[in-house]
Parts: sequence; C-alpha cells; structure tokens
Amino acid sequence: MQATRVVENLYYIEGIGFDSNIYVIINDEGEAMLIDSGTGSYFNRLLDELDNLNVGLENIQSIVLTHMHFDHSGGVIKFLEKRSIDVLAHKLDAKYLEEGNDEYVFAWGFGAKLKPIKIAKYLKEDDNISFGDFNFRILHTPGHTIGSICLYDEEKKILLSGDTVFTGGGVGRFDLPTGSLRDLINSLERLSKLKVEKLLPGHGEIATENGNVHIELALKWIK
Ligand SMILES: [Zn+2]
Ligand SMILES: [Zn+2]
Repeated sequence: MQATRVVENLYYIEGIGFDSNIYVIINDEGEAMLIDSGTGSYFNRLLDELDNLNVGLENIQSIVLTHMHFDHSGGVIKFLEKRSIDVLAHKLDAKYLEEGNDEYVFAWGFGAKLKPIKIAKYLKEDDNISFGDFNFRILHTPGHTIGSICLYDEEKKILLSGDTVFTGGGVGRFDLPTGSLRDLINSLERLSKLKVEKLLPGHGEIATENGNVHIELALKWIK
C-alpha cells in the first residue's frame, strides 16, 4: 500500500487484494476528503499511508462513497469507531448502508458484516463537491449498483469512476443486487461523451492520460 501522487493534492492508494482503491484529496488547510475506504482489513496500513501525506484522523473532513459495496464502505466503519466524519453517498445506495444490509452491500462476499452507516449527506445527479482546487460534479451512473456515482472535474478532466468502469476496458459486475446491464450501458454511453484525461477507477490501475480510450473500450466490450 503506497500513496501515489496523481496531480497536486490528489493521491491514489491502490487497494490490496479485493479492497477498493482509495483517493485522497487535500486542501490548503491540510484537511482531507477521501473517496472510498476499502474493506477496512488494512486500516492501520491506511492510517500509516495517510500519515505519510500529513493527514491525521483529525484532518479527515469527509468520505465520499462511489457506491455501497463493502470493499469500498467497510473502512468507513473503522474511521467512525475513531471519530465522527461525514459520509456522503447517493441516496439510492445510502438506504442499504444505513440499514446495514449485508446482502445488498455484498459484505457476505467478503465474509464480513456491515454495521449500519449513517450517511450525513445524500448525493444526487448534478450535485457539486468543491474541495481544495477541485470542483467535482456528481454523475449518477447506475448499473453496477442502483446508486453508483462518478465524480467528474470538468476543468481538470478527471473522472473518479468507482466500479462503473476500469482501465483496460473493464466494467463492474451487473449481476449483484440492484445491478443492471441496461443501466450500465446507458451510464457508459454517458461517460463516453465526457472529456476524460485521468481515469481513476475503484480497482486496479489508474490512467493518467487518454482516459476516454478506456471508457470507449469498455463500451465496445459490453455492447
Ligand atoms: Zn469494488
Ligand atoms: Zn462494487
């Protein structure tokens, strides 16, 4: 587990095993916003990595979840055991996180149980999240789950794509609860119309240029 700088104030921590990637955005005050949190299995290593970025627990202002799945949300529980942090998720996935619905968040797939997570803010299409130098628009991109989102910084051409699309043309599973192939195709078609340079997915490698090519490939593959 090692933090890699993507651009100034945006870092990528590659997930170990089935853990999601975690993205860390830092503002001028040294506060941080995290995107996704892994399963929590490697929580202490994550804290060490954040420490290397000069981000302590007390500096974490919010965690945005790209979707409800345990490999992205499990880590939130570990954070919340330490202190209260605002957790943001799309309304349609927030429901299952707040219920602690093991089946829908796929916790059983990791041999784990999800404690209910209180969501501080329900995200929806076209919401804006400004943090530091970044200005993200929330895109509701169902298909992998019903409340999957992507975060898009139009000016910087950065797309945080969760499990909707991966580099190399991969896509997230659509056979899990609330998944839908038709929704996923629609979401990919939408993403393919954006100008994307840096594609930062929920698993695997990132693309630092030509993000669009990976989205096109995914769309071609799935159709
Ligand atoms: Zn995932
Ligand atoms: Zn997922």
